[in-house]
Amino acid sequence: MTTRRVIRFEKVLEEAEILTPSAGFKLDTHEIEHRRDPLTGHRSLVGLRLIEKYRSLMGETDRELVDKLVASSAEKCFFCPDMVMSATPMFSKSIVSSGRIAVGESTLFPNLFPLSLYHAIIVPCKKHFLRPEEFTAGLIGDSLRAAQTFLRGIPLSKELYGSINCNYMPPAGASAVHPHFQFIVSTVPSSYTEETLNALKLYYRQYQSVYWDDLVEVEKEKKERYVGATGPVQWLCTYSPRGMNEILGVCPQGGLSKMEDRTIQGLGEGVSRALKYYGSHNYSAFNMSMDLGRLESDDPWNRLTVRLVTRQNFSAGYRAGEHFFQHMLATNVVVVPPEVLALELKQYFVGE
Ligand SMILES: [Zn+2]
Repeated sequence: MTTRRVIRFEKVLEEAEILTPSAGFKLDTHEIEHRRDPLTGHRSLVGLRLIEKYRSLMGETDRELVDKLVASSAEKCFFCPDMVMSATPMFSKSIVSSGRIAVGESTLFPNLFPLSLYHAIIVPCKKHFLRPEEFTAGLIGDSLRAAQTFLRGIPLSKELYGSINCNYMPPAGASAVHPHFQFIVSTVPSSYTEETLNALKLYYRQYQSVYWDDLVEVEKEKKERYVGATGPVQWLCTYSPRGMNEILGVCPQGGLSKMEDRTIQGLGEGVSRALKYYGSHNYSAFNMSMDLGRLESDDPWNRLTVRLVTRQNFSAGYRAGEHFFQHMLATNVVVVPPEVLALELKQYFVGE
């Protein structure tokens, strides 16, 4: 049996008929695709006509309001260089000997209200505000190197899980405007990590093959959602996304503490390119989640993956991006079909 046969891109097409007032109450048909993630079964629906109300769904970025928020928040920013050493907490010497970790412009220190065994903030830059397109590969790479340095200093003997996340701007859940990542290390996996690792293990046991490698191979052949590579990291759009404009990066290995630097460079480069795409399309809020899975594991399916999604654009009256479908029914609503997104993204992943 070839691996190609076991990745199924399932969809069910529905047609909803309505009489549209703007068209003199003529019969109008809306097609809806119900999709299922090949690994986890997570459902999403693609409203093929939603693109017509794209602006009202995503909102328009209010640049003046962004500038105002940036200026007002800069006055008392704990993450700016003149405050970060005096106003942010430190780890005890037994965890980080110098209290904080600095690599390049990035600084890693504990979250004031930790939500896991280790919960660090990584500030990637000295500048108070970066537009999405200003997150360079170097800034992201150095933040990952700071996280790697942290992991190398803590005992990894017990079962630990991790992720590196980002809320960018208030519609994405950020309370601070200054760019920052949240690094979570815990003895308990997140629901996403647990669900994914369980599904990856099942897939491996069934087919003696790593799902992520098979997915990349199939998507490369299909040429519908494959985007490109940055060094050893592969990028694609997910078939059944969990958020708007979802972009997925797949590393050839897991275990950030031992990860080769060229993979870290590839990750930084890919995230930077994805954010350049978001920035050039005037998206002003995004989330990123780098799933580190189990931090110490020889399981071949335990890979580092990263997902990015856009959130509602920043404006005075932005609406919540999640409504009953996502929040209560755990089904994502897609406006830009992944195949359209991949076509646009490819231009940003040309050339090393
Ligand atoms: Zn700042």
